[in-house]
Parts: sequence; structure tokens; C-alpha cells
Amino acid sequence: MSHLSRRDFVVSAGLATALGLNSRLVISPAFAQKTPDPPKGFVTYQVGSAKVTALYDGIWEKAHDPAFIANASVDDVKAAMVKAGLPADFVSIPFTVVVVEIGGKTILCDSGTGGQVQPTAGKMMTNMKAAGIDASKIDTILISHFHPDHIFGLMEKETNKPVFPNAEIIVPDVEYKFWADSAVIDRLPEARKGLARRIQAVFPTWKNIRQVEGEPEVAPGIRYVMAPGHTPGHRAFHLSSGSKQLMISNDTAYVPALVVANPGWHGAYDQDASTAEVSRRKLLDRVITDKIMICGYHFPFPGAGTIANDGSGYALTLMKS
Ligand SMILES: [Zn+2]
Repeated sequence: MSHLSRRDFVVSAGLATALGLNSRLVISPAFAQKTPDPPKGFVTYQVGSAKVTALYDGIWEKAHDPAFIANASVDDVKAAMVKAGLPADFVSIPFTVVVVEIGGKTILCDSGTGGQVQPTAGKMMTNMKAAGIDASKIDTILISHFHPDHIFGLMEKETNKPVFPNAEIIVPDVEYKFWADSAVIDRLPEARKGLARRIQAVFPTWKNIRQVEGEPEVAPGIRYVMAPGHTPGHRAFHLSSGSKQLMISNDTAYVPALVVANPGWHGAYDQDASTAEVSRRKLLDRVITDKIMICGYHFPFPGAGTIANDGSGYALTLMKS
């Protein structure tokens, strides 16, 4: 809270007093999480013979910003949050990482925030341990895209040391080439330059990264699915076991209260919003047609459910945990 002046604090404390709160409670207002953590930080479910474990990493309670959705107002966003049964005063962006155990392999799908994105996130490793999953035994890590909340869990905070040195890290080739290009730094908005610099300093030095092209099978029963737009190389992961399937959608429909209900809304985090919309509609239509489950990295925990058509948009029904 270094940007808060003493005067701001006094105002906050004064407001707290007016509300009958102890003023000591507002010393770090931005760090005070309003959403309770789930009672249990992991939830397991079966998809055919695959055991899927959803690991709660935390939540970002994002302040409203008129630039967040290009073609919707803050009031529209607030109304959409309320319609989804969520608080109106911020945008709930939880982080949930999925582990799939199938065919004797343990596969981590993205890597969490590593406690380096928001002060209210970074609980994945604790919840992984609680779920009985040994981080050192993870065989494969599938990466959907290179945004910080998906890859910072691969690197130690200050040193960039690999957190999973024994795992093979599989990444989309398009994504790798985009971020690893030294010329990209000049083209990126200011807020993304540091991310590109960190990627360029770290990933080329690691020997356990494998770039894959297209939509190959990258683990037993798991295939990459091209879903560009959010970033140039963004991928979903499709898990199939026996007659059951799960679409691990990652950030194709990141905050479902907003862009599942309103697939035409263009979010600021979608690098190419029109392409992201095409990918989103295609993926959601596929999940409906094939009658399969879907989970999402930023869906409300435990983040898995089903999709149906709903007027001009879609509706997500979450699995009960
Ligand atoms: Zn994300």
C-alpha cells in the first residue's frame, strides 16, 4: 500500500469507525480478502479412469475499471456479477490449478501464481500437499499461455530457480516464440514488458521445456486445443478417458460471470479480443454439442461444471463440491 498517503489511511480509519469497525482492521485495506477461502483447498473428481484434483491457489478481488470490458460499462459488469451470485463491489477472479492423474502419470495443468501475482494468492503448493500430491513426483506440466498467474508458479520468487526441475514442461510453440522474441518487448504495453523480460531471462536456460505445435496428444488422453486470442498461443486441454471427457478451458472464458454469460464482451486481458471471442464461442459450442464437462482456471472453485445455451449467451452450472 505504498501509494496510500497517511491522509488516505485516516479517511479509511474514519470510515471504519463510522461503520463500527476497529480501525486496526483497515491498516492494509487492499490486502483484506472479502471472499472466504473454500473450507477445503482441494476437490477431487473422476473423469473416466482419470482422477482430477482442483487445487485452490487463491483469489484476486479486482477493483472495477471502466477499461476492463471494452464494450460494457462498470454498471453492466456489476449487474453480471450479481446475476452470477457474486459480490458487485469487485470482480472475483479465483485461481484454480488442476492436476490429472491418468495412466500412471501425474500432470499439472498450469502452475499457479507462485505467490507472485496477488497477495491473496499463492496457496497451490500447500493445497497440493494437503491433497496428497507430491510436487517432486509431477511428470508433466502443461502450460496454456504465459500470463503471470499461469507460469510464475514455475519459478522461485527472487531467484527464478525452477520449482519443478524434474518435470517436463510442455508449452505451445506459438506462445513460446511470441514471448521469447527479443523484439516483442518494444511492441508490448508497458505493463507486459517485465513479463517478457523475465520469460526471456529464464525459459531459454531451462532444459526441460518442450515446445509443441498444433493440437497433439501431450499426455495420456490429453490433447492441446487451439484457442488463440487471449494470447497468440493460448491453448485449452482436452482430457478423454473411456466415455468421459473434460475440457480444461484455461482462460478461453476466464471470468464466466462476464464472458460465458456475454461471450461478445471484449476483455482487456484478451490480447486480440475478436479472435478470443471466436475461440470462446467455438469451445463453448463444442462442450455443449459433445455434452462434456468443462473447467476453467478462473471459474468459481472448484471450477468444473457444464455449459448450456442461454439466450444470446451461455450459462455455466457448477459441479457441487
Ligand atoms: Zn489467467
